[in-house]
Amino acid sequence: MNSKSRNGAIPAQAMSFPSQDELEREISEYLSKKYGGRIKVVSQMVFPNQAHEPPRDDSGTGTDTSPPPDFRLRPEDLEAYLDRFVIKQREAKAILATKICTHFNRISYLSKNRHQQKRTVGNIKNNIILIGPTGVGKTFLVKLIAERLGVPFVKGDATKFSETGYVGGDVEDLVRELVQAADGDVERAQHGIIYIDEIDKIASPYHVHGPDVSRAGVQRALLKPMEETEVELKVPHDPVSQMEAIEQYRRSGKRQRRTINTKNILFIVSGAFSGLADIVKRRLARQGMGFGADLGDREEQYWLSQVKPQDLVEYGFENEFIGRLPIIAVLEELTEDDLFAILMNPNCSVIISKKQDFRAYGIDLKFEEEALRALAHQAYKEGTGARALVSVIERALLPFEKRLPSIGADFLVVTRRMVEDPEGELRKIEADPSAPDLSRAYQAKINEEIEEVIEELRGSGGGPCPSELATEERLMMAASLVVMNDMSIEAAVERLAYLISQVKSYQDSFYNRCGIAIRFTEEAVDRIVAQGIEEINSLYAMCEKVCNVLEHGLSLVRERTGRDEFTLDAWCVENPESYVNKLLREAGN
Ligand code: ADP
Repeated sequence: MNSKSRNGAIPAQAMSFPSQDELEREISEYLSKKYGGRIKVVSQMVFPNQAHEPPRDDSGTGTDTSPPPDFRLRPEDLEAYLDRFVIKQREAKAILATKICTHFNRISYLSKNRHQQKRTVGNIKNNIILIGPTGVGKTFLVKLIAERLGVPFVKGDATKFSETGYVGGDVEDLVRELVQAADGDVERAQHGIIYIDEIDKIASPYHVHGPDVSRAGVQRALLKPMEETEVELKVPHDPVSQMEAIEQYRRSGKRQRRTINTKNILFIVSGAFSGLADIVKRRLARQGMGFGADLGDREEQYWLSQVKPQDLVEYGFENEFIGRLPIIAVLEELTEDDLFAILMNPNCSVIISKKQDFRAYGIDLKFEEEALRALAHQAYKEGTGARALVSVIERALLPFEKRLPSIGADFLVVTRRMVEDPEGELRKIEADPSAPDLSRAYQAKINEEIEEVIEELRGSGGGPCPSELATEERLMMAASLVVMNDMSIEAAVERLAYLISQVKSYQDSFYNRCGIAIRFTEEAVDRIVAQGIEEINSLYAMCEKVCNVLEHGLSLVRERTGRDEFTLDAWCVENPESYVNKLLREAGN
């Protein structure tokens, strides 16, 4: 086997860690070549500095000392979260949400109950195989879960592993990448997720010439990391790592081998596994299932849903390899209607990022439903699942993204015709950018979206509205934040709650300032908040504008009548001077 890895570096096992003397000698030689005898290595540089720091744990794994991760999420919470983003894939969502949640909760449980750790021999992890074609949400699901749980995530490609190079190096690279994904925090990386796509490409089906040795070799190289192994954090031949090692030695007096332990890292592998359905079908036929029924009538999806570990072994995986992947989830192909449903979802990242692209030029981008249908149709024809959505949207909107910023447009409602004939429709807009039918379509779209959001806020399933949205006016304000400011519903509700709390806390600061208790009615709060949203001003400043007018007048009223509590309604907020005059008149001015 080639002793160099693909990037030409010497593999880890070929280099031994240099001793302190060797290091000193090498550095001295280097320095004297460069500067003559003027600079020398002073050997204290590498003397242990025990007086300052206690020696560290030599093993450097940190496995036993890492703080227990505290995952409070329950499988159904995670599943509900996935439902907000992922269309279809019910079974995969349920399996992934449950098994990933369990994986992390189990780590948490065991690290708090160490006596339980000794009860099991070996480490049975919930590593997962995802089976499904391109672009159906395999990566998306795992990424969403990792983000939600706050655990680091890396993705690799099994086809890379089969190229020349020492087997196993790439898997270790992925483990090291996990540390980068955890911002250098090894303990966090030890509870990360490694996702390896195209795993079916390292299956080694038995051909006339016997099994494919190199593919089987890659499978074997994955066995240990998938179970438990220590991976060197630094590549030993890297000079920077060596200097760090010297510094480490100076501080701690120990030559530290920093490694990352893979015991708690979750491995998820995926692939399309073409031909697997036939293997399942043959097995079921052999077992006599479907006797009398026409086996050929069922769809591939049906057979895949019956897949068993033995089918994967027949597909070309080693028993031990499949044994380390006890969970199997099958994802469904996406139909044209599913692609449409993805685009219609308010959390659709493709649409959201396209809106941001246009918003960057001050253009509010909206899509008519029929345009989304046409986009789904075009994407479906490409046969790469939801992946094609990005490219078809880019293709349709590029001419508009290029031209509209130059003609000063501030909105675009994408229609079916624009998707089908972008250049032709763009010419029409260029000919008359302020055509009334364009702005009519835009206004209609805004009204429609506001209605939809209000409906959702009210809870179409009869769910209670958040208390911040107690009034019609507030529902309207939250919906406008969503539709006009591209906020998510959650963010809009949060923002509104914050604005309302600002107005309420102003009441206290007014009292602290002049000893007069004012209380805004709910309508008055709404009025101030509405102005604050429109003028994008600090609400505190809005309150000051009103109350500065009131302060002197209310003080006079207090002097004359002793009254020091006032309820301010919407009219007072809009007409503070008239309100003060009225009060003073009543007080017998
Ligand atoms: P793969 O199955 O090949 O891993 P991805 O998960 O990378 O596919 O899908 C590509 C993109 O398509 C995702 O980032 C996501 O935006 C979208 N997507 C794929 N499947 C779904 C789905 N079921 N629901 C919503 N969006 C999806």
